[in-house]
Amino acid sequence: MTLSFTSLGLSEARVSHLQSMGYDEPTAIQAEAIPHLLSGRDLIGQAQTGTGKTAAFALPLMEQVDSSNPSVQALVLTPTRELAIQVCQAMRGFRINGRPNVLAIYGGQSIERQQDQLKRGAQIVVGTPGRVLDLLNRGSLSLHNLGWLVLDEADEMLNMGFIQDVEKILSKAPANRQTAFFSATMAPEIRELSAKFLHSPVTVTVQSPKASPKQIQQVSYIVPRGWTKVRALQPILELEDPESAIIFVRTRRTAGDLTRQLQAAGYSVDEYHGDLSQSQRERLLMRFRQQQVKLVVATDIAARGLHVDDLTHVINFDMPDAMESYVHRIGRTGRAGKHGIAISLVTPLEKYKLRQIERHTKQPMTLVKIPTRAEIAARNLERLRSQMREAITSERLASFLPIVSQLSEEYDLRTIAAAALQMAYDQTVPAWQRNEHHNAEAEGSERGASLPKKRKTISVQSESREVSKAKE
Ligand code: AMP
Repeated sequence: MTLSFTSLGLSEARVSHLQSMGYDEPTAIQAEAIPHLLSGRDLIGQAQTGTGKTAAFALPLMEQVDSSNPSVQALVLTPTRELAIQVCQAMRGFRINGRPNVLAIYGGQSIERQQDQLKRGAQIVVGTPGRVLDLLNRGSLSLHNLGWLVLDEADEMLNMGFIQDVEKILSKAPANRQTAFFSATMAPEIRELSAKFLHSPVTVTVQSPKASPKQIQQVSYIVPRGWTKVRALQPILELEDPESAIIFVRTRRTAGDLTRQLQAAGYSVDEYHGDLSQSQRERLLMRFRQQQVKLVVATDIAARGLHVDDLTHVINFDMPDAMESYVHRIGRTGRAGKHGIAISLVTPLEKYKLRQIERHTKQPMTLVKIPTRAEIAARNLERLRSQMREAITSERLASFLPIVSQLSEEYDLRTIAAAALQMAYDQTVPAWQRNEHHNAEAEGSERGASLPKKRKTISVQSESREVSKAKE
């Protein structure tokens, strides 16, 4: 029998709230950590992003803080602003009736505003070490009533040189608090820190997100001899049409080149690299989350700072050298029961790597050829068909029925439906691909050959004029 959230000791109200969010069962780290944290033990959690570690520390805190007391009772330290915001948002999502109050504090945002927010009261504060220390020194943040302290991504704190700040904060917190450290790896410095600040902690370890490879479909495309990878990638992107994807490359330089070439071809793509300022990173992250940018090109190192794990696709433009990197990369998709696709571009010389991957992940790897234009067109039509099915059952349909009634006085219903479909197709499919389904067979052998630039979507008005003209 699988464990339930109730059996971990969480309240019924929280469990049903979690269920409404689609959290039916605890993940491994949650199942192991939550009972210890609820019982008051200090804890070291060795777990990476994607394992559900945020809920593992957040839920016990949220169950225990006193929402009627406005003072800060729990502090979560994160290495980056993005993570502070992300953890804060996740915690707000776990709340019932908007309580307790969770506040994110980080550098770069007006300190006065954060001072005001603290004055108004917050039971839980999520912050970056520098800003937390600053607010402590100014007397705007008080840790007198602090009962819980969590260090998230402790190894990143170390990498980013924040450990001294963290030590200062830890030594300012009351001694009788409960403390938890979460870290993907356990460097000696982290062990030293935990020996100094944690009281007989229990250690909980979960494996890297190899967890659910079943939900990750692994597909490899063989790049034909004489082709560049960029040329091979474009028809794949057309076929897959990812909602959100990271394209992994080996070097920073390839990242820049590939981004420019894809942008020139009309794709919504950006590069993520270490030299971006905090505000540039945040803006990119925001656009990526809101799907204004669908593709992000990054190296493994840069992608570490990119806290996005809910991807529809992961694309290995360059294959990683280490198997761990491969597993880590593809683990960013197929999350929380969703289906994810991991695509690898391999040259004929790299084919041998695929067997290694199969052996390591114990999952089959599908080997496919670069899609032809006809295959892409067929996929687009298939997509349109399923969108139609969805639209037919939607409630908004009713508001369009009067237009259909009016038009049906002039045209027959099949013609009207086909015209509407044509408009929808033209909205989503670039101009150069249109009408492919008419002569799909004829062009079938042309594997993604020299794809012209994608065109911007044509407005509905001009299209509808064309449609009505055609009827006259
Ligand atoms: P984390 O490792 O905390 O960044 O979480 C990774 C992702 O898994 C997030 O999108 C969470 O919303 C999701 N998640 C965490 N725990 C569960 C759960 N028990 N059931 C379903 N989704 C979860």
